[in-house]
Amino acid sequence: MKFKTMKKVFCILSLATTMFINAQTQIIAHRGFWNTEPKTSENSIKSLENAQKLKVYGSEFDIHMTKDGKLVINHDEHHGTMEISETNFSDLRKLKLSNGEELPTLKDYLKQGKKDASVRLIIEIKPAKSKENENEIVTKVLKTVKELGLYSQSDYISFSLNICKEIKRQNPSAKVQYLEGNLSPQQIKAEGLDGLDYHYSVFEKNPTWISEANSLGLITNAWTVNDIKVYEELKNQGIKFITTNIPDQLKDK
Ligand code: MG
Repeated sequence: MKFKTMKKVFCILSLATTMFINAQTQIIAHRGFWNTEPKTSENSIKSLENAQKLKVYGSEFDIHMTKDGKLVINHDEHHGTMEISETNFSDLRKLKLSNGEELPTLKDYLKQGKKDASVRLIIEIKPAKSKENENEIVTKVLKTVKELGLYSQSDYISFSLNICKEIKRQNPSAKVQYLEGNLSPQQIKAEGLDGLDYHYSVFEKNPTWISEANSLGLITNAWTVNDIKVYEELKNQGIKFITTNIPDQLKDK
C-alpha cells in the first residue's frame, strides 16, 4: 500500500474510532433535571419526570434513612434544619420541598421511575453513621427496588466503600460505582466493583485512568460536569458516562 493511501486509511480508522467512542458517552441528570425554566427542586419527583421527558440515559438521586427507618430522597444530611437520620419521617414530611412537593420516599420515587423504562435509575446511597446503619440501608434499598421490579433498570453509586461492597455482597449482579476518587482502576477491579464515578478533576490529575478503566471493563463516569469544554475533553478520552446539572445542553453535543 502506498504511503498516501495508508495515511488515508489510518485517518479514516482513527476518525471512526473517535466517533465510536464519542457515540458511547451517555448523559445522566444529576439529582434529576431541575435546572429548568422555572427551576424545580433537586431530587424532587418533578425533576425525575423532567429527566424522563428529556429522554436522557439516566437520572441520579440520593438516599438517606430517617430515624425511624424510612428511606427518603434528599441530597443533604439535613432537610431544612432537621437532621434526617435523627428525625422521624412524620416530622420531616411537615416541611415541603421548595417546589411544594412532599419530601419523596424511595418507594414514591421509584414508582415514578418505573413509568419510563428507558431512563436508568442511578441510585446514590449516602454514607451513614455506622457500618450497621449502612448495611441496613443497603438491605432496605435493594428490597424496595426488587419489590417494584426495578433490578434491571437500576445502578448504584456511593462515597462509602462499605456501602459499595455491601451492595455487591447482597446482590452480585447489581452494577456499583465508587464515588470517592481515591482508588485507581486496578484497585476498583480488585475490590470487585463495577466502575468509578469520580469528580472530573480526579481524571484531570490521573489522565490514564479513563483508558485503563475502559480496558479493565469498568464503567467510567464523571461528576458534576457543567462545562462543555470539560465534557468534550472527557468524551475524547473515551468516558462512558457524564453526570451533569445541564443535561439539556450536553445531550446532543
Ligand atoms: Mg448524588
